[in-house]
Amino acid sequence: MNIVGGIEGVRAAISRRRTPGDRLGFVPTMGALHEGHVTLFRTAREECDVVVASIFVNPRQFNDPRDLTSYPRRPAQDAAVTAAAGVDVLFMPRADEIYPDGRVTDLHVGGPALGFEGAHRPGHFDGVALVCLKLFNIVRPDVVYLGQKDAQQVEVIAAVISDFDLGIDVRVVPTVRDEDGLAMSSRNVRLSPDARHRALAIPRALRAAVGAHRDGQDPVAAARAALDGLETEYVDIARFRTGPTLVIAARAGGVRLIDNVPLDYPERAGLS
Ligand code: AMP
Repeated sequence: MNIVGGIEGVRAAISRRRTPGDRLGFVPTMGALHEGHVTLFRTAREECDVVVASIFVNPRQFNDPRDLTSYPRRPAQDAAVTAAAGVDVLFMPRADEIYPDGRVTDLHVGGPALGFEGAHRPGHFDGVALVCLKLFNIVRPDVVYLGQKDAQQVEVIAAVISDFDLGIDVRVVPTVRDEDGLAMSSRNVRLSPDARHRALAIPRALRAAVGAHRDGQDPVAAARAALDGLETEYVDIARFRTGPTLVIAARAGGVRLIDNVPLDYPERAGLS
């Protein structure tokens, strides 16, 4: 596996490996890798000829500066994880390379970026869209691998790909959960044992919502009841491409967690 930090370096590493007709899969991440990320790498490895991953803690998508500084960073461990998962090229750029002084263009996303995360994290999806557009232009993938865990992010990135005619396929991989049901997230390492225990109300709420939906009851009310005791930012139904999706943002011990389930396809959320 090649590990490269520079834009020219990653383009050169890709062109050395890519022959005409090859399908290039790209997995953008912010590192502190866990089994959720590894599932994206493995799926890309199975489906593509060349697999490129990126690790970049994108400052533009953090609306809370404390979240940015406390975001876990483990570059050496992450490099070993990507190599073991079969990634061919790992791109780990510096922030000043992605955002050099003098840059004058910004993006503003409407549509699927409004509401939910977009409402609670002002500017977040503008930052996501900007970094993805830049990374897509650098890597030039045929297909991008994204997690259902960040369902609204999938909608936003798919809109950017469509609006800018990038011609990149979007592959959405089901949410990977720990044995106790909590969706894997790089932020989980910040949960105290007690907060983690309380956070298990989130997967319980998703299951309750799926059950209520199946029985013709109100999924939001069912989820809210199961979330009793957690500080919730929103519990709602989003209309995503996979149909009505129950979305939750909540805090446990000061750590902000998001999760979701497409009500007609609970298996995509890693729930049966
Ligand atoms: P992040 O490093 O958090 O920006 O995530 C990078 C990619 O991994 C995104 O497409 C996420 O949706 C995906 N991802 C994060 N957590 C999970 C998970 N538990 N299961 C599946 N995909 C995930």
